[in-house]
Amino acid sequence: MTEQTNIHPDQEHKSLNFIEQFIEEDIKTGKHGGRVHTRFPPEPNGYLHIGHAKAFCLDFGLAEKYNGKCNLRFDDTNPVAEDTSYVDAIKKDIRWMGFDWEDREYYTSDYFDQLYDLAVKLIKKGKAYVCDLSAGEIGANRGTPTQPGVESPYRNRTVEENLDLFKRMKNGEFPDDSKTLRAKIDMASPNMHMRDPILYRIRHVSHHRTGNKWCIYPMYDWAHGQSDSIEEITHSLCTLEFEVHRPLYEWFIRELEIFPSRQIEFARLNLSYTIMSKRKLLQLVNEKHVSGWDDPRMPTIHGLRRRGYTPESIRTFAEMVGIAKRENVIDVALLEYCIREDLNKKAARVMAVLDPVKLIIDNYPDDQEEQLKTINNPEDESMGSRILPFCKELYIERDDFKEDPPKKFFRLSPGREVRLKSAYIIKGESVEKDTDGHIIAIHCTYDPDSKSGSGQVHRKVKGTLHWVSARHALNAEVRLYDRLFNDPDPDGHKDHDFKEFINPDSLKILANCKVEPSLQQSKPLDHLQFIRLGYFNVDPDSTPEHLVFNRTVPLRDTWGKKNKV
Ligand code: ATP
Ligand code: MG
Repeated sequence: MTEQTNIHPDQEHKSLNFIEQFIEEDIKTGKHGGRVHTRFPPEPNGYLHIGHAKAFCLDFGLAEKYNGKCNLRFDDTNPVAEDTSYVDAIKKDIRWMGFDWEDREYYTSDYFDQLYDLAVKLIKKGKAYVCDLSAGEIGANRGTPTQPGVESPYRNRTVEENLDLFKRMKNGEFPDDSKTLRAKIDMASPNMHMRDPILYRIRHVSHHRTGNKWCIYPMYDWAHGQSDSIEEITHSLCTLEFEVHRPLYEWFIRELEIFPSRQIEFARLNLSYTIMSKRKLLQLVNEKHVSGWDDPRMPTIHGLRRRGYTPESIRTFAEMVGIAKRENVIDVALLEYCIREDLNKKAARVMAVLDPVKLIIDNYPDDQEEQLKTINNPEDESMGSRILPFCKELYIERDDFKEDPPKKFFRLSPGREVRLKSAYIIKGESVEKDTDGHIIAIHCTYDPDSKSGSGQVHRKVKGTLHWVSARHALNAEVRLYDRLFNDPDPDGHKDHDFKEFINPDSLKILANCKVEPSLQQSKPLDHLQFIRLGYFNVDPDSTPEHLVFNRTVPLRDTWGKKNKV
């Protein structure tokens, strides 16, 4: 007898995370008519990284799941650090990841007028005042979590005076930092964010969108929450550090009687061996530790794309990481696992020799050439097959041959047999050396009856080597990338700068590689598996005259082994 359950098969094994639970509660109670509307609010002061990807996979993903919408909102309230080039890079990344904000591309700066009006409303209610203390004095007067702060001597200005001063702040009558607008809440609140937070400061700087129209700029807490309300965002997801800001977020909603968006916090993504602060990533770029924001070692989406990551692998990663309510660190090996799994299905297997040495088949006719058929991906036959030219002289990897092999060496050596992938079984015979004793060519013989796929039964040989035909091979540059930091927590050492942990071997450039001729047709960002070597992609620097490939990841996780002492 089979057991009966009342769980719909689609729902089985799928438990809701805490954000989904909140959303489903809100849908059930009919809040906002069951509507789900989220937003992703990047500040255009740097490129997006894998942590941001985690956040926007959640914002856009939940909107998709609940048949809702997700806005893209540039949180551009600090003109000093922001720039249009970042706006463009951010849009490119989100699109590349497969998400669509349709026509809902918004900017906090578009709301500067509305935000100003809301501030006036607060002043009129007696809930905000113009303060003449300097930022330093305000800080010093805030008190500590256990000690109440000191009220500003300007706190009890009349509404009329505040309205007048605020207007004159806006009109540019006062120099930078000479005045602020502050909410009038409670200087004794146990929550420091409620101690008369600053809403506006004076900055006579030009903004990348509003030009010189404004010289007062809203602070994050003021701009962000009110922008959520203006857009009628139902669920505003942000990282844990904003949990303590939530009472302020809700205070504004109550006092202004505006749309009640709900703020929900989740733990930010931290990755081992990775730096995620935009300020520090900018430092790596400016100080030329990397070639730019899109350096394949950077955790930016631009960097990951150039490295050979796929949107699907990043989305799978974001899903697997899940969401948490407590800070944690995810092993970067999980991200590498996700790209291996994805590329295993998608990447064509091709042959490339990174450290080539000549292999001469003594008993193969000088002028003979064969066109050997080989399949592109054993995991997916629909990816078809291609032709490999084969002839007397080939290249193989230098370390696939040993004159004096140890016992368990299953590659080529004098008197031993191996198979050449998709071709023949060969036997090592002799070597040619230069005057320094360096091997310049390996001689072997082949068994003409051992051709792969010929339908004949062959004797078994232990090793299979990749190779390319010397006559047909293309020259290529191969860039071997590794983790940028050699410490799991580069930013976590007191008395040490994170840059001290930069891995000196994070990039090795191999300029004299040989690849099979089919790669002449490869296009920038194509994904490949170089058989036995790893997953690679075509770098945007690559041209038909100068092919350049990046290693995305080795075939297996070798990092742990390599670093074991
Ligand atoms: P900053 O310190 O400059 O504010 P930021 O990384 O928070 O840096 P934002 O552009 O404000 O930059 O981030 C946009 C959104 O991405 C925010 O909602 C933020 O909470 C989220 N986010 C940023 N870093 C991470 C991370 N590591 N994991 C998850 N979400 C993140
Ligand atoms: Mg931020």
